[in-house]
Amino acid sequence: MELFAVPDLPEIREGDDLAAMVDERVDLREDDVVCVASTVVSKAEGRLFELDDFPASPRAREIADHLADIAGEEKDPRFAQAVIEESTELIMEAPFLLTATRFGHVGVNAGIDRSNVADGDLLLLPKRPDGSAARIREGLSADRVVVTDTCGRPFRHGQRGVALGWAGMPAARDWRGEHDRDGRELGVTVQNVVDELASAANLVAGEGDGGTPVVVVRDWAFGDHEGSDAHFREVDGDFVRQALREWRFED
Ligand code: GDP
Ligand code: MN
Ligand code: MN
Repeated sequence: MELFAVPDLPEIREGDDLAAMVDERVDLREDDVVCVASTVVSKAEGRLFELDDFPASPRAREIADHLADIAGEEKDPRFAQAVIEESTELIMEAPFLLTATRFGHVGVNAGIDRSNVADGDLLLLPKRPDGSAARIREGLSADRVVVTDTCGRPFRHGQRGVALGWAGMPAARDWRGEHDRDGRELGVTVQNVVDELASAANLVAGEGDGGTPVVVVRDWAFGDHEGSDAHFREVDGDFVRQALREWRFED
């Protein structure tokens, strides 16, 4: 398996045809997996806004005031408003905003980015990243697309690449029913390969001014496994999320 960044991509603007831009820069193979940072998907889809587009509601002010008290610095209530509008549930309101987006992803600040965009600008996540992945796939000579983001996670420091959407392949390899080296049947392992590919691609894409938002994964095969599209947990059965709903930050 080999990964490389698509060279010479310009600053992406609303309306840009990402698939065509990638296809003309790389001689893609059908079985390549093309991993695209959500940042540029959002830019192409016109998800760039300004703080002024989100006049703060009383609720947003309350949240921002609380966060400002905790952090000891100003927090813009318009940013909190943007997060609220992008979310179906506020899971934690302090000491940071952890929310669920409409498409099922749980992340800090609803994944809204203020890096790799101009000051005062907000870049919202794509509305439906698997729809985005499917659209990009239509225009590519490669069959598989993963839309990624960099995201923190509980229990560990640091951020890493995760998959927000995918097309042309299942999200996971279901190993259940296969056997380990001692002949024991695997009972629980469902390997989330789109997150693993996103993570590998994110290593190549980087986080700063590298200008490499699209990474091609070559010579990686899904293999002879059952597939599964289970990716984001449903609330029912997500016990950590349920526990967090009950939890309150004490400062
Ligand atoms: P995210 O992980 O999806 O939030 O994306 P990042 O902001 O971390 O950016 C990932 C990579 O894409 C970095 O190498 C950035 O320099 C690059 N990048 C971000 N926006 C653009 C753009 O409009 N054009 C190009 N060529 N690269 C970009
Ligand atoms: Mn991001
Ligand atoms: Mn990133």
